Amino acid sequence: MILELKQVTKAYPVRKRRKGWSKTQDTEQAVKQVSLELQRGECLGLVGESGSGKSTLAKCILRLEPLTSGEIWLDDQPIHIGRIKDIHLYKRIQLVAQDSSSSLHPRMTIRDILEEPICNYFPERKAQALNICLSLLVSVGLTADCLEKYPSQLSGGQKQRVCIARALAVEPDIILFDESVANLDTTTQSSVLDMLKRAQVERQLSYLFITHDLQSTRQFCDRIAVMYQGEIVEVLKEWDEDLLQHEYTRTLFQTLAE
Ligand code: ADP
Ligand code: MG
Repeated sequence: MILELKQVTKAYPVRKRRKGWSKTQDTEQAVKQVSLELQRGECLGLVGESGSGKSTLAKCILRLEPLTSGEIWLDDQPIHIGRIKDIHLYKRIQLVAQDSSSSLHPRMTIRDILEEPICNYFPERKAQALNICLSLLVSVGLTADCLEKYPSQLSGGQKQRVCIARALAVEPDIILFDESVANLDTTTQSSVLDMLKRAQVERQLSYLFITHDLQSTRQFCDRIAVMYQGEIVEVLKEWDEDLLQHEYTRTLFQTLAE
């Protein structure tokens, strides 16, 4: 096991109309008592409707949000209490977000974007950075002519591939994909998924693959955790409708069959 979430809860304060002088602050739990394990080399799907708490969970894993309660362990170390420096955490866990446009600096060329993590995390590779960039581009199905371009000169699919290449440049153990292929058209989506599968096998990566689209997880994931209103309601190991326990998962499968 590489990553373990133990009873993770994340509550956000909500502003409600105050009655009188009451100063009590209400909170709303976006993630409720989630326990989940990610095995080494595994691809774990996390499906759930919009607002079910998937992105919040990813942010908690990367410590972008503090936990309200619970624990997150990476190997045999707790990572929720701030003993690990963020740079060490990001060396192990990378995030590929849904919106590639906002995660790429508009004034940096693709070469700068890819060289940055290489030089930060592996200063000894500075001299070979350009070659590494090129091989990363090839591994995500892009060509060398992208190198001197700016993000605005690329298509949505190409930008998403750059984000994936940047995550791979760090050589992490875990990559969190938060709706990372949701904006791509079907053909691009399947070629990106094929590429991710290859990278996973070659580099022994563990993936947490977050999506609201059950169909794309079907071939891609080893197990699928179903999230509903902040809770993990079911973890599927096999794609068998008869085994479904939770009402929400059954509805998800029905919409897929229609
Ligand atoms: P998902 O990614 O599954 O669509 P999110 O994790 O983005 O869901 O959101 C889960 C819930 O948490 C939503 O009700 C959302 O409004 C709430 N939420 C997310 N981020 C914040 C925040 N920074 N402050 C307050 N509430 C938030
Ligand atoms: Mg989200």
